[in-house]
Amino acid sequence: MRTNRKIRIETLAVHAGHSIDAATGAVAMPIHLSTTFERDAEGGYPHGYVYARGANPTRDSLEQGLAALEGGESAAAFGSGLAASSAILQALAPGDQVIAPTDVYHGMTKLLREIYMRWGLEVSFVDMTRIDEIKQAFTPKTKLIWIETPSNPLLKITDISAVAEAAHGAGALCACDNTWAPVVQRPLDLGADFVMHSTTKYLGGHSDVMGGAVIARKAAGFFERVREIQGASGGIPSPFDCWLILRGMRTLPCRMRAHSENALKIATWLVDHPRVDAVHYPGLASHAGHEIAARQMSDFSGMLSFEVGGGAAAALDVAAKTEIFIRATSLGGVESLIEHRASIKGEDPRTPQGLLRLSIGLEHPDDLIEDLAEALE
Ligand SMILES: *Cc1c(COP(=O)(O)O)cnc(C)c1O
Repeated sequence: MRTNRKIRIETLAVHAGHSIDAATGAVAMPIHLSTTFERDAEGGYPHGYVYARGANPTRDSLEQGLAALEGGESAAAFGSGLAASSAILQALAPGDQVIAPTDVYHGMTKLLREIYMRWGLEVSFVDMTRIDEIKQAFTPKTKLIWIETPSNPLLKITDISAVAEAAHGAGALCACDNTWAPVVQRPLDLGADFVMHSTTKYLGGHSDVMGGAVIARKAAGFFERVREIQGASGGIPSPFDCWLILRGMRTLPCRMRAHSENALKIATWLVDHPRVDAVHYPGLASHAGHEIAARQMSDFSGMLSFEVGGGAAAALDVAAKTEIFIRATSLGGVESLIEHRASIKGEDPRTPQGLLRLSIGLEHPDDLIEDLAEALE
């Protein structure tokens, strides 16, 4: 991009990380598959690249795009969201304490409990929507507070600025898993030090690529260690995966607007349905976290959940009857998904049995409503 003007997020998403290929003039970026790069006669590396685990041009482009989109100084891309989270945890030292939400993504719970606690990290799980509980968990060893908002599967909202402020007051860093609300929520602007993404979800956007990222407000300090771990332990995405994610990101702001509009319509319709006992969507004024969500999100994203009476059997029956919604886990793709969370391995046992989670895609909202209406009959 040649402009120095202040540009808007849609423009940024289309152009960030992209450049016209200097060698050929290609408008669509090439994919650099090379694992190794030529040295000059003096033994140097004239283009700055040595070996592709450390850095390669396609991953560099993705990382530049990620940093631009989240408003950070630097980004590191990984082969999955959990590889990105893992790099942040590895950058801590044994004995450090992490404070995480009780309802954090179940893969993160497993990572903390089964891997990093065994290696000497101390972890306290708290209700992240309650600042008093967070403050009670502080110890002199507190190094990191991990936020995930909206939460899974109840869409609880954590006040990012309040938690970041508390973290900084205690001399700790604050990382926010922003997988569920890219573009519409900007944790770095709200005071978080790091954003983590599973780029498998909305950033890729088409359910066809796995990836993860850490985006840092400041490139110096703690993030340097994350960068070192990326190259040294090698949990990196392939050039083709980087290319797919960067391509997905070009339409991200437009997709997030459409996902959010569709989800609000469907949530509003579900509220009035006689078989629906509860709807969890932060865009509804009746949602417990709506006030905070309205302050820290510019839109409410495409994830929601609802509860039907009659427990697991009734919920599974509804999921079985949908024709457009696909019964599958994951989220953030163009196609709508429906999932009975309580029967997922590793899911929090507190997840209501009658709960169905929806990832609202880009189909016409009326088609999705008709599909749910028939399934709920
Ligand atoms: C999917 C997901 C992850 C894990 O990402 P992977 O790419 O599957 O490793 C982490 N956090 C949230 C909120 C997710 O939805």
